[in-house]
Amino acid sequence: MSVGSELLPVEDARARALALASPLSTEWARLDEALGRALGAEVLAQRTLPPWDNSAMDGYAVRAADLSGPLPVRLTVGETIHAGQTPRITLSPGTCARIMTGAPLPAGADAVVMQERTRPAPGAEGPAVEILEAVAPGSFVRPRGEDARAGAPLLGRGTPLGIPELGLLTAQGMLTVPVPRRPRVAILSTGDELCRADEPPEGRIVDTNAPSLALAVARAGGLPTLLGIARDTREEVSARLADAQGFDVVLTSAGVSVGERDFVKAALEEQGVEMNFWRVAIKPGKPLAVGHRGATLYFGLPGNPTSSLVTFELFVRPVLRRLQGHPDVEPPRASGRLEGELRKPPGLAHYLRVAASWRQGELWARPLATQTSGALRSAASATHLLHFPREASSLAHGAHVELLPVSWGA
Ligand code: AMP
Ligand code: MG
Repeated sequence: MSVGSELLPVEDARARALALASPLSTEWARLDEALGRALGAEVLAQRTLPPWDNSAMDGYAVRAADLSGPLPVRLTVGETIHAGQTPRITLSPGTCARIMTGAPLPAGADAVVMQERTRPAPGAEGPAVEILEAVAPGSFVRPRGEDARAGAPLLGRGTPLGIPELGLLTAQGMLTVPVPRRPRVAILSTGDELCRADEPPEGRIVDTNAPSLALAVARAGGLPTLLGIARDTREEVSARLADAQGFDVVLTSAGVSVGERDFVKAALEEQGVEMNFWRVAIKPGKPLAVGHRGATLYFGLPGNPTSSLVTFELFVRPVLRRLQGHPDVEPPRASGRLEGELRKPPGLAHYLRVAASWRQGELWARPLATQTSGALRSAASATHLLHFPREASSLAHGAHVELLPVSWGA
């Protein structure tokens, strides 16, 4: 039996955590507050957009059939249509209209010839133009309803709202959009050795996990609340957890291992949290306590600063995305090549901090010099986590590797 075979694979641990989460209730958010969120309900178009066939070019609106004979073809110009104007005439055979980008096509026209494929007609009496090239019907015409059709689905439930999606909603005249509300996330640090950054350390170290996790939560769309630092007694951890009411997720850091003063698990149980304590086959971040009480999820994250960030990335962020209704919650992945060589005993999946950059069309990942989980420096300047699979024991230079872009970077 290989070392750690009783440990839960990362994918299984994530699946179990995700099984505890479902999208939160929907609220109406202003569009400028909806970027990056997922649509909470299907939206039907109210308006057909564009409302009319219109020109994709500055040029001449024509009847394509008029151009089937020998070229050039002389056409009479009936009118000029600018964007924002309504055409007045209907094109009859042998006529065209000067038209600008975005202007509605006149009745009778079925194509646009771009200005560069025309020239002034010599010696014409009225306004006329010579068309130098035949065009197929539909050329340079942006058809009515290309963006939206009134009454038809515009965007489905769960659609991640990027800038173009918000643009489509804006074009419909929508000012607000239904989205699952943002998860409220409480963050509690535990440890006798910790102090706040604004306190004199006096033999203690500054709590960096809580502020770091708060930023990670906010970046993942959540609303963080700092609960401060609890001393390493079961009573104090328990009391702080008891105060943490009305949250969707509670994150604690440290005290979750097997040390004599690791009281987080006992305190969570004392508070009625139904625990799943998992030893996950991962480095860093092996001990991970996950549980729930009612609809509130609890994560006991490891104390080492890098471990807490890595486990946030692999387990908490996907859960925060699920709570916000995103259909795709798995950590994003890229494929790359390893710069250097790596060895480890089989049994634990390693997630190494790497700096990756493009060279000759490939993403080359260089493991950072410091990989200890206690050092925040090992996460600083990392662009990705390199997944060194559980059962693998070596990776050669140039090996194809899975890279997870980190969400904590600049
Ligand atoms: P523990 O899980 O309590 O054994 O903590 C593991 C390591 O993480 C110890 O070196 C702690 O001092 C350190 N640590 C715990 N909590 C924090 C925190 N909030 N900020 C920075 N380091 C921490
Ligand atoms: Mg501790």
